[in-house]
Amino acid sequence: MGLSLETRAKSLHRDVQVIDAHYDLLIDVEIQRSLGRRRVIETDYLDTFKEGGVKTIVAAIFIDNDFLPEMGLRKALNQISVLYDEISESSDKIMLCKSMHDLIIARKEEKVAFILSLEGAEPIGNDLSLLRIFYELGVRLLGLVWSRRNYVGDGSTFSPIREGKKGGITEFGVRVIEAAEEMGMIIDVSHLNDEGFADVMKIARKPVIASHSNCRSIADSMRNLTDQQIKDLAHTNGVIGMNANNFFTANKDEDAHVEYLLHHVDHIVKLVGVEHVGLGLDLCDDFLKYISQASLEHMPRKPFDVVHGHKSVPKLTEGLLKRGYSDKEIELILGLNFERVYREVWK
Ligand SMILES: [Zn+2]
Repeated sequence: MGLSLETRAKSLHRDVQVIDAHYDLLIDVEIQRSLGRRRVIETDYLDTFKEGGVKTIVAAIFIDNDFLPEMGLRKALNQISVLYDEISESSDKIMLCKSMHDLIIARKEEKVAFILSLEGAEPIGNDLSLLRIFYELGVRLLGLVWSRRNYVGDGSTFSPIREGKKGGITEFGVRVIEAAEEMGMIIDVSHLNDEGFADVMKIARKPVIASHSNCRSIADSMRNLTDQQIKDLAHTNGVIGMNANNFFTANKDEDAHVEYLLHHVDHIVKLVGVEHVGLGLDLCDDFLKYISQASLEHMPRKPFDVVHGHKSVPKLTEGLLKRGYSDKEIELILGLNFERVYREVWK
């Protein structure tokens, strides 16, 4: 009798370098530290990363609308600063990685690797020289926009809103993309609108990622990619990270579960091949406590994760095994595809 799927999934997670390409934990860490707590990642997160066999976390720097524009830079620097503090307090357990060499060291020393990413270029405002500063601080991925307009371009909203005509990438945005690629930062198009996406495809010279977006043909959100966009992104040799949020997984909450998220994997694999799928789970359940009841009620659907914490990521792998994916293919999806892009773009 063969091993159960659960055992096979767990053993894959023990050996594979699982990467979650999008996690907004820095907002939580920043708030918890402001309350006087220390070693927040070690205390609140490490066990669930370990249990799920998640070895690498891309930590997004996200600025809430309330702080923009004046406080964007300050908040971004503060989020980087809290990560640096956490790493110095738990230096035997977590590590900031700025290169493939760092990732290899983290793995050898069995530390959870953190990679910094900007979720929206708001912190640099319209000052290109600040991009270099963020690079020097360790930012290796650049989400051009969040779901709003900035100096680089226009974001895609979660559902249609009342607004005027959308724009594409600005003249400043073109320079940001060129400078970022030149430096060795990866361009991330999650949250970008369709006009901007088309522009990035013309401007970018390196692989482009969508760190946390799914398929629009399955879940009809503007945050998800059309089939043509999936093909275009794959053509850059990029990767799409599967997002576990219910909005982006299924049109109806009753369909929003792990199996349905795997339909997105199947769809991308069928369209462009297994080399272009990764995980960018965007887990948010633990952060909903910071959203007011009023704004939750304002949302057309209440947000929830279809993967319940990083400890449950092996459930995704079980589903992939059940669908007949080979160990080699699953390794690509869990981390090696994103790693390929890191190798290609980072210096
Ligand atoms: Zn996001």
